[in-house]
This record gives sequence, structure tokens and C-alpha cells, in this order.
Amino acid sequence: MAVALKKLDGLDNMVIVSDFDGTITDIDTNDLIYFDFGGEESRKVEKLIIQGKMGVKEGALNHFQRIHLTEERFINHIFQHARIDEGFKEFCRVVKEKGIPFVVVSGGYINTIKAFFKKEGIDDSNIEIYANRLNFTGCRIEIDFIDEDDECETGLGPCGNCKLKRLRELGRKYRNIIFIGDGVTDRCAVGEADVVFAKGALKEYCTLQGIPYIEFSSFHDILDYLLQKL
Ligand SMILES: [Mg+2]
Ligand SMILES: [Zn+2]
Repeated sequence: MAVALKKLDGLDNMVIVSDFDGTITDIDTNDLIYFDFGGEESRKVEKLIIQGKMGVKEGALNHFQRIHLTEERFINHIFQHARIDEGFKEFCRVVKEKGIPFVVVSGGYINTIKAFFKKEGIDDSNIEIYANRLNFTGCRIEIDFIDEDDECETGLGPCGNCKLKRLRELGRKYRNIIFIGDGVTDRCAVGEADVVFAKGALKEYCTLQGIPYIEFSSFHDILDYLLQKL
């Protein structure tokens, strides 16, 4: 569980940064789409990415050469299979009420994130979102990536929206960064966050790299931590 974390100087001058897929949602909505509509070829691509043999960005471009869906079908399929974390709505309410800056940084797509917030009735006017964007023309899907280049040192890039790069930008504005994540595209960020909340594969990564983290299973755990500090 909690191991030798860097000390936060209270909650002043702090920002909370969270991954979306598999962190705010129960499953990775991108993998869901890639595997359900991209077939065996998409499974191979995801394996190559995990092994560090293909960049996340190249992988996404590869998937959408095969996958043809309207935006409505894309979103509906995700809504059928993915759920938002049980504590997330409450978490959003509290950070808004307390005026704590909250940023979502995703290697996935803003289309999905915005649709989920709307469906759940989450007021996202105070939430900054950095994610790639899908452009649908009928069934054809093209991707607008946030970035050309990464600052990644994890060998997974370019990923299109490097979380380390976003963290360094936020680090110029805020003294303390809390980072919440679960997966592959979170790896580059965890080394430079002040407090890391991890679940899933990110836990093993942090352990292997000797990066301290707090294990969490829902946003209720993160709220408990924040409320202790308030
Ligand atoms: Mg994730
Ligand atoms: Zn990166």
C-alpha cells in the first residue's frame, strides 16, 4: 500500500491529474472498440504496443484503417459495456466545491470522455481535458492527435498525447501533482508526480521501477485521502 510518499504541503497549489480509460471507467474503452471491431489484427497490434514494438500512435492509426463505425454506434457500443467508477461523480462534486484543479489526460479520445460526462450528468466546466479527437465522416474515422512528439522515456511513444509532457507543463503552474492511473500510457508520468494512485498493470510497473504509489480501487479511496488533508 502506501510507501514513502513525497510530502504534500497541504492542498494549496495542487493539481489532480487522472487517466480516463480503466481509471475513471472500469474497462479500457479503446481496447473494447479495437477488439470488438478490429478483429485478430487489432489484437496483434495491441500486443506489439505492450511489448514496446509499436508506438501507441502508430497502433491507433493502424486500428482505424480497419474499423468503420458512425460516432453514434461507437459511443453506444461503449455505453453498453463500460461503466464509470462508482466514486467518480462524488469526487467531481467535491473537487469542484473545494476549487481543486482537476485535469483528465487520456491517450484515448475526447469524444468518449465528453459523452460519458454528459450521460452521467457530470458538470465538466471546471475539468480540463487533454485527449486525442476522433473525426467521423459517416463511418470513416480519422484521428487528431494532440502531439507530434513525446517526452516519453518508456519506449512506448509517440503516443499522441504524452502524459509526461502534460505533467511537466502543469508542474510549471502547480507545486504538487497527484496522478491517478492504471495502464501503459501512464508509465511515463508516474516518475515525476508527487503522489501516485495506481491500480491494474500500473501497480506492477511502479513496483518494478521502485516508484512509490498508493493502491486504489475506486475514486472513493482518493476522496478519503483528500478529505484527510482538507
Ligand atoms: Mg488507462
Ligand atoms: Zn509519454
